[in-house]
Amino acid sequence: MKAEAKRRNQSVSKLMGMGQRTGDFEGLETKRKQAAQLIERLAKANEGLQAEIAKYKKTSGKLQKRYELERDQRVKLEKERGERLQFINTLGHELKTPLTSIVASGGLLLEELKKGEAQSPRLRLLENIISATGKLQSRLNELLDMAKMETVGFILTFELIDIRPLLRNVVSEFNPVAKEKGQSLTLDLPPSVPMVNGDGEHLDQVLLNLISNAMKFSGEGTKIRVKLRQKGPDLVVSIKDNGPGITEEEQMRIFTPYYRLEADRQRFPGLGLGLTVSKHLVEQHGGKIWVESELGKGSTFLFSLPVAEQEAARAADL
Ligand code: ADP
Repeated sequence: MKAEAKRRNQSVSKLMGMGQRTGDFEGLETKRKQAAQLIERLAKANEGLQAEIAKYKKTSGKLQKRYELERDQRVKLEKERGERLQFINTLGHELKTPLTSIVASGGLLLEELKKGEAQSPRLRLLENIISATGKLQSRLNELLDMAKMETVGFILTFELIDIRPLLRNVVSEFNPVAKEKGQSLTLDLPPSVPMVNGDGEHLDQVLLNLISNAMKFSGEGTKIRVKLRQKGPDLVVSIKDNGPGITEEEQMRIFTPYYRLEADRQRFPGLGLGLTVSKHLVEQHGGKIWVESELGKGSTFLFSLPVAEQEAARAADL
């Protein structure tokens, strides 16, 4: 009985051994198939990759060509820009020089004539010539500014400045004219203000535009108040008049080139460019310009200039 069981066990073990070998073979076959599939997939992926690389090379070639084309165009444009600026400067010089000479000679002649004759038609004629030439100078400056703005932009030179002396100078320059018109022109400055990064000459031009507008559009005997204040990170200059005021609809349009209020087109000289140029200049300083106005009550034109970073940092340290 024992021998029989032993024999049966041996046969089962044999069979089991055979089964194991069959299992090994099937496992290997499956693995071989899996490997073949993997190789096939890898080959396909590689083909795809090669196609992508070829496409990329083509695109990169095209991009390189486009970059070179744009670089050449940029060089050409820079050259044209330089030529245009030079043309505008030359044109300005050619037109301004004779005008300056006419105004200066006219002024001297006027003084000479006044010595001999207090009132005469000749005096009046000469005064007319001088005044008309002055207007011609202003219009010419506006046109040249606009030409610069539209072609090459203003070229500003920034430095740390205290804006108060600038305001004092412009206001004192305008005071005699205001007096002549019976207008009062006052200036309100704080005892100390932080510096701004600005181009004095061009900020001067903004002030000149805004104060001369206030004087031009407000009637005789009106009040014009120029004020400077610090508001958070900005300095804000305001020019307030009690002139005719501007409707809300027109407030949106007066900063666009050539726009002038219907009522002012015939009555006052100008091209409708002063505010456009001022806006452009203030924005180049990183500031904003706007108007607050009520019809019949007057207008306040305001512009902000960011306090210079060094100054803001110093204030934060204190
Ligand atoms: P210009 O002074 O040559 O007309 P601006 O661009 O300086 O050009 O002004 C545009 C228009 O805005 C002016 O024609 C005028 O109608 C209006 N305007 C400007 N400033 C004032 C002001 N202080 N009061 C009333 N209207 C004004």
